[in-house]
Amino acid sequence: MKEKRLLLINPWIYDFISYDLWSKPLGLLYLSSILKSHGYIIDFVDTLYRWDKFHIQDIEKPPKVRKYGDGPYYKEEVEKPESIKSLSIDRKFSRYGITVNSFRRHLETMKKPDAVLITSGMTYWYIGIEEAINVVKEYFKDVPIFLGGIYATLMPEHAKAIKGVNFVLPGHGENIILRVLGEYFDIPYTQPYYDLDNMPYPDYGIYEKLDYVIIITSKGCPFRCSYCASYFVSGGYFERSPEKVVEEIAYYRFKRGIKNIVIYDDAFLLNKKRAKGVLKGIIENKIRAYYHLPNGLHARFIDEEMAEMLYRAGFVEIRLGFEISDDFIQRETGGKVTSQELIRAMNNLERAGYKRKDIGIYVMTGLPYLPMQKVVDALLFANDLGGRIHLSEYSPVPHTKDYERINRKLKDLLDKEPLYHNNIVFPYLSDINQKDLRDIRSLVKFLNYGSQLNIKLLSELKKWGYAN
Ligand code: SF4
Repeated sequence: MKEKRLLLINPWIYDFISYDLWSKPLGLLYLSSILKSHGYIIDFVDTLYRWDKFHIQDIEKPPKVRKYGDGPYYKEEVEKPESIKSLSIDRKFSRYGITVNSFRRHLETMKKPDAVLITSGMTYWYIGIEEAINVVKEYFKDVPIFLGGIYATLMPEHAKAIKGVNFVLPGHGENIILRVLGEYFDIPYTQPYYDLDNMPYPDYGIYEKLDYVIIITSKGCPFRCSYCASYFVSGGYFERSPEKVVEEIAYYRFKRGIKNIVIYDDAFLLNKKRAKGVLKGIIENKIRAYYHLPNGLHARFIDEEMAEMLYRAGFVEIRLGFEISDDFIQRETGGKVTSQELIRAMNNLERAGYKRKDIGIYVMTGLPYLPMQKVVDALLFANDLGGRIHLSEYSPVPHTKDYERINRKLKDLLDKEPLYHNNIVFPYLSDINQKDLRDIRSLVKFLNYGSQLNIKLLSELKKWGYAN
């Protein structure tokens, strides 16, 4: 049988703002490893790879890389799509990632593939997929295109309507891809069942230079927060054994020399015994690196021992998921944490050695039924704990409870046009006051500036008799 050649693409981001906070197309990198080990020849273009050689030749300068390997994407301003033009959003809209010219150069220098596999992220980034397909079709007109990833899982019908897409593959690609391609090419295949422990490592070999790697130690989350689609996208909650996780980390650190290891789990601490097993493995095997956990951790599970182990293992920046301080709304939206649990977690982390001002706390705004007053309460509460606030601006996600409760007329719009899910765009369609939002953003900056100086606004006001 003639070997089949596949082109795997991670498409551009089209958005008002974007930043490479340790992003890699993990699902597609897993597929690349699996497909190679089953005899496929793989070409890979990651349009978000900041060290892309054609891109660097094109713009004639290297990317900015911050201390921990993160950094800004290259961006080019583009015209806003028709559907959002009329909203008069006073922000620039850009394509983030390598230049179109460098993408073309990849295509010009490769052999014609037998099929193209494209992944997807946020629903409102689908323009990047359309754009990538348009360019691919100029070079390889009749090649079939398979589309998977998060957007394809959340909105398969919308994805099917993208011009040039032949097949949409929602869900876990690793457990269907060999069957799908085997049937398409009419070649013999076996489709093994992959769980997190028997998957090969992601194919990081496609990158010439790596500032960081991301790994997952568990997938999904058993909570059902009303604004989050983790459970739907992951199809459940799955864990990996601590030994396998530690083995993979040791491989990247000792064999590949990677200094920044990023864990992108939704619920890393949920099984405390397993999480402590990972941390113990890192400490005992002296795998010294900078460890990052950009997704909010569950404060509930940070007991004294956990905090100490996180610190000793080298987790440099901790971020805690909080979102809402109002007890009733917090419970109604999923009850993943209480204010008391956040206080306890902050105390334990401080005792372990973290500075309060370096601990991030996610606070949510923009949820249509969350009054601005409650957002301010949560911001002042987080500031009073001494933490650094990260504002999560609500973006409606299909298949979540909050998406379903949006009024019919607006939901119809969101179903038809995923660009409206963007957290910058959505407030223009819902009843959220733009001025209030701007004030909230300014307040966050102000409070964070204060917390660097150890000023806790609410406590100060109380001290001087300006608040109770
Ligand atoms: S706890 Fe976090 S990951 Fe889990 S459902 Fe809630 S928001 Fe999503």
